[in-house]
Amino acid sequence: MARTDAIVLGAGIIGTSIALHLSKRGLSVALVERAGVGEQTSYGNAGIIEGNTVFPPAFPDDPAALIRIALKRAGEANYHLSFLPQAFPWLMAFRAASSPERLAETARLIRPLYARAVAEHEALMAESGATHFLRKTGWLKVYRSERAFKALQSEFDLAAQFGLPLQALDTAGAQTLEPSLNPVFANAVFWPQAASVSNPLGVTRAYAARFAALGGITLNGDARSLHRAGSGWRVETNEGGIDAPEVVVALGPWAGDLLGPLGVKLPLMVKRGYHRHFQTQGNASLARPVLDASAGYLITPMEQGIRMTTGVEFAARDAKPTPVQFERLMPKARELFPLGERADDKTWLGSRPCFPDSRPVIGRAPGINGLWLAIGHAHWGLTLGPATGRMIAELMTGATPFCDPAAYRAERFR
Ligand SMILES: Cc1cc2nc3c(=O)[nH]c(=O)nc-3n(C[C@H](O)[C@H](O)[C@H](O)COP(=O)(O)OP(=O)(O)OC[C@H]3O[C@@H](n4cnc5c(N)ncnc54)[C@H](O)[C@@H]3O)c2cc1C
Repeated sequence: MARTDAIVLGAGIIGTSIALHLSKRGLSVALVERAGVGEQTSYGNAGIIEGNTVFPPAFPDDPAALIRIALKRAGEANYHLSFLPQAFPWLMAFRAASSPERLAETARLIRPLYARAVAEHEALMAESGATHFLRKTGWLKVYRSERAFKALQSEFDLAAQFGLPLQALDTAGAQTLEPSLNPVFANAVFWPQAASVSNPLGVTRAYAARFAALGGITLNGDARSLHRAGSGWRVETNEGGIDAPEVVVALGPWAGDLLGPLGVKLPLMVKRGYHRHFQTQGNASLARPVLDASAGYLITPMEQGIRMTTGVEFAARDAKPTPVQFERLMPKARELFPLGERADDKTWLGSRPCFPDSRPVIGRAPGINGLWLAIGHAHWGLTLGPATGRMIAELMTGATPFCDPAAYRAERFR
């Protein structure tokens, strides 16, 4: 029976960053994963390191948008009718968290963590040889409707209070940054302090390789085999059982599969999302992620081509894929940017693990000794991986965390 100081369950960007941060502090760590490192949710995202985040995602307050979604005509959201009764309490809690006052409160609470997002990635990338994936070219959001652009004023005001730079641009200004965009929008906002990566899987794998170089071990196994062994924990792997006094749950959208049987009940839901890759026509190119905010999709340059990601789908995590949003979105996307043929024949589906207040849970599992949680990073898990890894490693080793962890405690749901 092998013994380590800590076991990290789940090798997405969150678990891998935690394992690396714990190793850097001298702990012996086993990272347990049932698939390949970084191959699930952390593979298919839009690659944005959103250090600028002001407001979290919100429940729509525009009745026209709600009607469009209800009629299944919206690009930004889809749902499975059969899932709504189960999702209803969560959706109501999400709606309550989307009042202007609650959004402003959340923005202030999450700022210190997001403020470190890019710098923490840069630090891990430098030691992992992954800097070539990083683009510090910001994020461009384009707005086709005057109403949506005007509604940004409260975000601009808060960004100014936080000292976050932004540039409000007209069509020509946006085309200076991205000459291949067609003038189908009147307004745009450039957020210079966002960064992005050209291969999210490559980033997680590089962090895992660095973890291995520091002596960490990655093992294939099922986290659901976790059980008490003496005063600590044991998890079964293909290499045999591993014991440790401390375990970190970083299972992303699968966290409930382990936590439910342990009696840890938290309102974790998924917002599903899809991607496809496209070639470009002629010499068209993109230098950064571009959000078509009024239509509800994003295009971004990746090693595989232009990755187009959809907004959210409310459906059971394991329900069959229903990528109907592409049919609604493709005409808009082709109008904005000269997308060519598909660069792959697969449509990727992933599940953003979300709490209704859009804040992750980072810290001790309530009432269970030696169990830690790093889950629910929702729309911004790639962004927050290294910052989360640092925070939980500081908490576990008794160091003072770089920012106040109170906003991320699981107890807020009790
Ligand atoms: C369409 C889309 C676009 C997105 N765009 C962005 C973006 O631009 N920027 C951003 O910051 N975030 C983005 N996100 C969100 C981001 O991808 C997630 O928040 C993040 O990947 C979550 O990471 P994780 O490590 O918690 O989960 P995961 O990457 O899913 O990792 C969990 C791991 O646990 C493993 N696991 C599960 N069950 C078990 C078990 N029983 N035993 C062993 N292992 C198990 C899984 O195999 C998996 O590897 C996007 C998400 C989607 C869907």
